[in-house]
Formats: sequence, structure tokens, C-alpha cells
Amino acid sequence: MTYETDHHDEHPWVYPHSTEPEGDDPTALGGPQRSPIRTLSEALVARIAAGEIVERPASVVKELVENSLDAGSRTIRVDVRGGGLTMIRVGDDGAGVPAEELHLACMRHSTSKLGSGGLEDVVTLGFRGEALPSIAAVAELSLTSATEHDGSGVGRRIVLRDGQVIADEPAPRPRGTTATARFLFQNVPARLAASRNDRAETAQIAQTVRRLAVAAPHVRLTLAVEDRILLETTGSGDLATTLLEVYGHAIAESLSPLGPIEIEGSTAWGVVSGPEVTRPGRGCVHVVVNGRWVQPRGLLARIETEYRPVLPRGRHPVLALVVRTPPDRVDVNIHPSKLEVRLMAEREIGAALGRLVRSELGRRPVSLRQPFEVGLDVLRPAPELAEESPAWGEDDLITTPNLPPLSLVGQVQNRLILLEGAGGLYLVDQHRAHERVIYGALAAAHAGDVREPTALPEPLLIELSPAQAARLSARLATLVELGFEIEHFGGRTFLLRAAPSSPLGPVGAWSDDPAATVLALADDGEYAGEGEAWRERLLERLACRSAIRRGRPLGRAEMRSLVEALGRSSAPAVCPHGSPLLLNVSESLLEREFRW
Ligand code: ADP
Ligand code: MG
Repeated sequence: MTYETDHHDEHPWVYPHSTEPEGDDPTALGGPQRSPIRTLSEALVARIAAGEIVERPASVVKELVENSLDAGSRTIRVDVRGGGLTMIRVGDDGAGVPAEELHLACMRHSTSKLGSGGLEDVVTLGFRGEALPSIAAVAELSLTSATEHDGSGVGRRIVLRDGQVIADEPAPRPRGTTATARFLFQNVPARLAASRNDRAETAQIAQTVRRLAVAAPHVRLTLAVEDRILLETTGSGDLATTLLEVYGHAIAESLSPLGPIEIEGSTAWGVVSGPEVTRPGRGCVHVVVNGRWVQPRGLLARIETEYRPVLPRGRHPVLALVVRTPPDRVDVNIHPSKLEVRLMAEREIGAALGRLVRSELGRRPVSLRQPFEVGLDVLRPAPELAEESPAWGEDDLITTPNLPPLSLVGQVQNRLILLEGAGGLYLVDQHRAHERVIYGALAAAHAGDVREPTALPEPLLIELSPAQAARLSARLATLVELGFEIEHFGGRTFLLRAAPSSPLGPVGAWSDDPAATVLALADDGEYAGEGEAWRERLLERLACRSAIRRGRPLGRAEMRSLVEALGRSSAPAVCPHGSPLLLNVSESLLEREFRW
């Protein structure tokens, strides 16, 4: 942690570097000399403390809005000028501060929020009593507040500059509080220099307000930048509505609810966007614990581990998760900005939330909104189809736990399986579907649910280069765990006897040469590594290598068993790389496009 030390007249910890020659003076040892110990002035102490809390203009916004939320406000308006450096004003209709406490509110370690239970049962966002004094140390802070509704209009205003009260006077105001910070960091040149770019600061402030909005859906929150409204929520109290207000209605059709679930004494629920709305960063991932927007590293990592397999690499959903937990099961006091928190049973809660997200993301087919045209000739049946029953009837209905009941229409272009159901038409990418199914089988094997591997018609001898052999040897144990019967045969030769079973035969049966699957792994230097991430990639890789390719004609029985297996998998709509594998042409799209 670095603190600004560039106060004009006080540099208490800067050692004077002596250039005096060494003399009789026992303190002149040639190294840095020390000055006598002094007590820091109050103003400087405040400025040092402020460094932890007020890092950027956005931190001022966060602290002030949190105070408004703690005061039970229903409406909060944030006004910002000059990236927050010129002015930040937060007005609310909350409980207000009694006139006689206004000055105290701006003193260090003064808070109205710690009850007798101490830190163990904090239910407010603030509790350290440090925000207002910190802001007052690095800005001119004006606080106008009234506690009465009665129209008496008597409020009080206090203005502090450099920690000193420069005005304390009656001011007319309806109940609520307005806190205004002006000239932020004017007295901290280093901070000022670090936040010169108004646009960057404004963007940071907007991000902060979005987070606060998601954490407080019941509050009408407005952000105006240079008098233009940038963001406005209606205080609907509904999480999904708030996300739409924050991110725009374009994502409306994509949002779906998660939970609620009960886990480890906590309740959790949320909202997630569908696989068609993903973002390159984690900027739209929100976790709210007991009303506080937080970044609990451990929890987030757990959640992400779970959903990563169903999204393209590096992509993240628009996601809001809300956790309610007894206050004594969460530690909010591990970081001054209170962004980090530690939850008890973090691993379990994270895993449960992540699974919730994954099953939702993985279940939903990408729905087609763009009009598209289908020529009749693409509905050419596969060669084998002609020999089987020409029509599809009741007996073709495929019923599975994770897909709607579907009947098989046929194969299209030797790469898509066409199905119909109550929701319209469904197109399945045969390669990705098979990948998903194999991935599921391998993952189950890895988790200990080993099914009998299928013996190859003849054991396969695989001869490798020394480097390949070394890589494969290192991975042999994992392959065996996954259900491959493979052994070192001597030298650089390996023997493959059996491969894990999958609905369409042993894994690898569809790549014309099962040994190629194993070879590919041995060849792949990029996938060298250990641990979960590597195993995950190995599964992806294996699934991809051994899945049926596009261009391969499928018989009806094969298509059926593929769709059946797909419908039993936990994520039937995306392949292990996160690409969509199931498209839905909805009934309503058809009606619209055909103008029926
Ligand atoms: P903390 O929030 O940790 O208590 P602060 O320095 O942020 O510390 O605020 C100090 C006190 O000032 C709060 O405990 C609260 O009593 C009062 N206060 C600050 N802002 C508001 C507000 N907008 N409405 C009502 N009271 C407020
Ligand atoms: Mg506070």
C-alpha cells in the first residue's frame, strides 16, 4: 500500500540523506539518519487513512451511495462533473442526520451503525465510520441533511475543507441528505495526477453505480454526468428488471431466473443471460452478499469453474447472483473498501451457484431471431433413411430429461439433425452433439462413474516418437482413469485394448482410427500441464477428436441414440467448447416470418 506523502510542509518519514562527512557524532553512521519521532498532524493522519478508502472518484461515489442506502433511501441521485474531480453530489430521501450529529458524522471512527453485537452482526454497508472523514480529508465536503418530513424545512448544512469546518448553518431541506464532494484530490497531487482522464473516471463511476443498482433493485437510482442522465433504474425491486435497466432491453429475451436454492444455511438466487449474450470480460458478473456488491475471489473462481465448460473460452454471461446469509457467517471486514468478503462454506456455495448457472446456460438452445430461408432440397433424407419407415410417427418421439419431447425429421446436409417439437423446429449440429455426449461420458468416468470400456475389435499398437512417448507416459494414468485400456508395451510403443463407451460405440470409433485420438493427445504440446484445467482440456480434446464429423451420413437409429444421449446430458445446448449445438426455430418466428 502506498500513501501520498506530498503534503506541502510535512514529510515526517523522509529521511534526510546526510552529505556530512563522518565525524565524532555517533549518530552519523553514513547511512540514513533518523529524525526524532513526532506525532503526525491530524490532517495528515486523515489523508493517509483516506488513501485506503478514497482511491478514485468512483470510491467516493460508492461510499456516498452506500451511506444513502444505509439510511433507507428509496430514491438516490448521483451527479458528477469533471470525472468526479470537479464535483460528486449524492442526494437521497433517507433518514437524514440530526443537526447535532452532523459534525460528528464527519469525524473519524464515528458511526451510527455498530450495534452491541459488534462486527459479527453488521447488516449495514458501512460500519467503519471512515468514509466521510476520508472524503473530507481529500476534498471539500458539504453535507446538508434533515430528519423531518413535516415541511418545517429545517435542515442543517456543514462544510469541511481540509478537515476543518468552514460553514455550519441552517439550510432548508426536506428529509434526506445531500453530500457533495468538490475539488477532489486537489490537495493530493499524486492522486490527482493518477486520475487525470475524466472519461476513464466517469466510466469507472458508471460501473460503480451499475453495481450498486444491481445490489439495490428496490431503490430508484439515477446517475447524471454533466447533467445528462446516463443510467436510471425504477426501483422495481426485481433483479431481472434492474439488469435490463442497467444493460439495456436488448438482453430482455435472454434473461432467465436461477434458483432460489438453500445451501449451507444461506439462500441464493439470481438471473443469467442466455448463451447468445456473452461478454468478453467479467464486467457483467455481479455477486451481491447481504445487499453488498462484492468480489469474493474464492466464490467467483468456484462459480466460474462450473460455467466455463458451457461458454466459449474467455466469455462470461451477464449474471447477477444474490446470496443471503446470516451476518455471522460472512466476514466483511477483511479489506478497507469492503469489496472482498469471506463467506463460510464458500466452496460449497460457489459450486452450487456455479452448477445452477451452468445448467441454465447449457440447457437453452440458441433461438433464431434472424429470418432465414429453407429450401426444400436441403431436406434430402440420408441414404439409409429410404429403407426405414418413410414417415415419422408416435414411435419416433424422443423423450429425455433435459430436452422437450422431440420427433426426428431427418438428417440435413449430412451434418444437421432436424427435429420437431412443441416449440418449433430444432436443428442439432451432429458433431457438436456427439462431442457433448462423449465429454459427458468421459467426465462421468473421471468423476468415478466408470462404465465398462468397450474393447476394440483388435488391440492397437501405437508407435510414438520419443517426445510423444514421454508426453503420453505422463498422461497414461489419466487416460486409464477415463476408461482407456492402454499400457506401455515397451520402448516407444503403447497398446490400446479398449476405449470408453459412448452411445455411438467406443470413443474413437468414429474417428477412422481410434489410435489417432490417443496420438493427438501425445502430440499436443500445448496441452502439457497438470491439474483440473489440464484434465478439462484433455476431455474437450478427446471429445472433439473422437466425435463424428460433419459430412457423415447417419441412420435413423444412430440419430435417435445421439439425440437421446444428448437429452440426458446436463448441457444439451452447447458443445464442450461452448459453441451452440442446438438451434430452435420457434413457432412464433415461423408465424411472424410467414405472416400466418
Ligand atoms: P459509516 O457509514 O461507516 O458509518 P461514514 O463516515 O460513511 O461511516 O458515515 C458516518 C455516519 O454519518 C453514518 O454512520 C451515518 O450515521 C451518517 N450518515 C452519512 N451519510 C448519511 C446519509 N446519506 N444519510 C443518513 N446518515 C448518513
Ligand atoms: Mg459509510
